[in-house]
Amino acid sequence: MFKPGQQVTVSVHSLTDKGDGIATLDGRPLYVEGGLPGEDVEVRLTLAKPRFFQGRLLRVLRAAPCRREDFCPHTACGGCQLRVMDYPAQLALKRSLVAEALQGQGLDCPVGQTLGMEDPFHYRNKAQYAVQPGPFIGFYAKHSHQLVEVDECRVQAPATAEVAQRVRGWMRRQAVAAYNEQNRQGCVRHLVVRNGVYSEEVMVVLVVAEEPSTEALEQLVAELQGVAGLASIQLNLNPREGNRILGDETRVLWGEPCISDRLGGLTFAISPLSFFQVNPRQTEVLYREALRQAELKGDEVVFDLYCGIGTIGLFMAAHAARVHGVEVVPEAIADARANAERNGLTNAVFHQGSAEDLVPGLYEAGIRADVVVVDPPRKGCDQALLDTLAAMGPPRLVYVSCNPKTLARDLAWLCQHGYRLEQVTPVDMFPHTMHVETVARLTREP
Ligand code: SAH
Repeated sequence: MFKPGQQVTVSVHSLTDKGDGIATLDGRPLYVEGGLPGEDVEVRLTLAKPRFFQGRLLRVLRAAPCRREDFCPHTACGGCQLRVMDYPAQLALKRSLVAEALQGQGLDCPVGQTLGMEDPFHYRNKAQYAVQPGPFIGFYAKHSHQLVEVDECRVQAPATAEVAQRVRGWMRRQAVAAYNEQNRQGCVRHLVVRNGVYSEEVMVVLVVAEEPSTEALEQLVAELQGVAGLASIQLNLNPREGNRILGDETRVLWGEPCISDRLGGLTFAISPLSFFQVNPRQTEVLYREALRQAELKGDEVVFDLYCGIGTIGLFMAAHAARVHGVEVVPEAIADARANAERNGLTNAVFHQGSAEDLVPGLYEAGIRADVVVVDPPRKGCDQALLDTLAAMGPPRLVYVSCNPKTLARDLAWLCQHGYRLEQVTPVDMFPHTMHVETVARLTREP
């Protein structure tokens, strides 16, 4: 019988969704954080349950060829899970995750190489730091609300660390307390830093449970001057319990209410609350792939379903006759319309509502799509939408997905209902994490 505390030697054969190694012990999975597929590792068991074990990696006895030195000193941080795997191996892993998901549904379409980044660092345009009494500013550890103090983070923009340091110094000097989740006392809860990758503008949003004094806020504004690209400082009030980072009330303390950034020659305004793709460089790669697969000639009607702030549709609008975007969140639709106007695109219209509710109505109103792009959340497309698509029968479907499992499920259904799967391309939007984005093309069987 295996018990916690015991030391075992095992071979890691695969990874969990969270990037932990999986070995087999006594017919059960043994999860080993930090173990890579193909490695023999020495592990101390920390947990023995009827259906699984957990262990702590003591030593790598035989390293995988893709093992590399960790690029980050913050070992406990849960942000990046694949830090000890070299980048080419990460891209190969993501391709195989997509291929396995498709095979699991009996789909045998070849999967292209994962489109990766040339420089897979400093790619994020948004950092959401947690702030806890200390004051400590950092990110949560894996699976917990335990804070890992982090300044310099290799996937964030360089200005981010400087903002965190300055805010920490300000809290100390002004004796502004961090919010305490246990007794719900204190002030500062989160620090959100957003930046334009192309514009290089920086927005700082301090999230507080209660208003700091006017003097303290003046000091904060003074403290942050000198941060390169600083364009906006805002205060967000979030007095409510729970995990939501931003509250409903936001006030500009200094500078502009929005920063801007570009995507494929279009400009977008980013406010504290607005959604914007986190890795703009790779978003361009993703959208270019979607555009390539859509094979637009210029006279098509395109549906952009689950359109968010309209970016895919607007990206395609110059290559199509007309774009109809559909999105359930009203604020996102308002942003999409403003973005169309900002970029002088008059052939894109946006409809607010769920795709499964609105698309049948568009169809009944005689609006026929030549190409439908869907980009649903992790749970995939609603069955009612798939039914409608099968009935409408647009010649081409481009499926953009952030979850290979629901992608494969929906593709398999579409392939049983009149479509042929032609191309599948994974795109790496989040280097060093297990996330994988995929673009797949289906054409209507004649
Ligand atoms: N295509 C966008 C956003 C994709 S994220 C981009 O590239 O940035 C998925 C979006 O689907 C979110 O904005 C979410 O609000 C929206 N959504 C979720 N369920 C929906 C539904 N049933 N109908 C329409 N939109 C939905």
